[in-house]
Amino acid sequence: MVTLATFVIVALLNPYSLLKASPSMASTLESGLLDCFGKNRLTNYTTINSRPQICYKLLNFSLQNLRFTEPSVPMPYVIVLPSSNIQVQHAVVCSRQHGWLIHARCGGHSYEGFSSTGDSPFVIIDQMNLNKVEVDVAEGTAWIGGGTTLAEAYYHIANASKDRYGFSAGTCPTVGSGGHISGGGFGHMSRKFRLVADNILDALVVNVVGLLLNRTTMGDGMFWAIRGSGGGSWGMVVAWKLSIQYIINWRTQDDDYKYLNWIKSFYEYMEPYVSKSPREAYVNYLDIDLGAARNGTASVETAREWGIMYFKDNFDRLVRVKSHIDPHNVFRYPQSIPVNTKQVL
Ligand SMILES: Cc1cc2nc3c(=O)[nH]c(=O)nc-3n(C[C@H](O)[C@H](O)[C@H](O)COP(=O)(O)OP(=O)(O)OC[C@H]3O[C@@H](n4cnc5c(N)ncnc54)[C@H](O)[C@@H]3O)c2cc1C
Repeated sequence: MVTLATFVIVALLNPYSLLKASPSMASTLESGLLDCFGKNRLTNYTTINSRPQICYKLLNFSLQNLRFTEPSVPMPYVIVLPSSNIQVQHAVVCSRQHGWLIHARCGGHSYEGFSSTGDSPFVIIDQMNLNKVEVDVAEGTAWIGGGTTLAEAYYHIANASKDRYGFSAGTCPTVGSGGHISGGGFGHMSRKFRLVADNILDALVVNVVGLLLNRTTMGDGMFWAIRGSGGGSWGMVVAWKLSIQYIINWRTQDDDYKYLNWIKSFYEYMEPYVSKSPREAYVNYLDIDLGAARNGTASVETAREWGIMYFKDNFDRLVRVKSHIDPHNVFRYPQSIPVNTKQVL
């Protein structure tokens, strides 16, 4: 007979195989997690077992890549929808205590579905309710919640500044700030104002042990890492402080062919200059064909294969920061920054 203790130990080593093994064992693991939520008054979640239809709806509504809605794709056991920073902290601590892999989700637009699916049993902490935007026009800054979409941020900043301010970021309104800023984020204004990650002045992050950190308390290494290396490796960003810029908008009659021809000629002009040796890639435009590790547990040498394509020489620095702030690799996905066990303090 398998005791609960044995189950939990083996589950921590390979939880996916155990959850497949027996529904009653799976429900024991699940109830431990839900008890912890209850003790911490965290009630706004839904489980795949209790309310599958709602869970599917919540999961699928913001997915851009419909391949991830297929029944063969692993589903989260629980989707949590925190509405405050403290609830995010509780969700992280409980999930970790009970051996669940954690995926942060904001806009759900990850090209490889890293926020919505996974190899191990996982919990999604979806930040869609953390979408408050506070604008300080006089200071030229705005705090936006870690679940804010780009449209929400653009709208509230324009509204508060009487259409005078915007910020340099992507063009798709439903992209989430959580993943977008974590991976850089470029759009129409970036030629002049650079990436949105270059305009981040501060951030609030719930770390691996559930502490709420700001720029000062997280330190330079982590503040550097969260602005460009992609979300999902460092913790839960619950708010960003942005520098905002003056904008001017105008509308002309659209002429599709004109713009299509322009793009075509631009492509032909640029094609000879595309980097090939080594190949390079932008982490917000994820490409799993570059290489990936099941469960997000690649060795440093394996992860280097795709890591240098995204980060070049910064890859080793990111590994050092990761080994320091998340030595047990709690926040991970198939292309996340790996831990170097020799560097763990
Ligand atoms: C239709 C479309 C248009 C796009 N347009 C642009 C564009 O104009 N410019 C551009 O630069 N990019 C663009 N992108 C790419 C986009 O920036 C990335 O896919 C980005 O990662 C999406 O972020 P998200 O929050 O929507 O995705 P999610 O899938 O929610 O998250 C992506 C990753 O970040 C992590 N994450 C999410 N929220 C948080 C958080 N709060 N804290 C920590 N980690 C978090 C997730 O775990 C996941 O690993 C576009 C993508 C799509 C699908």
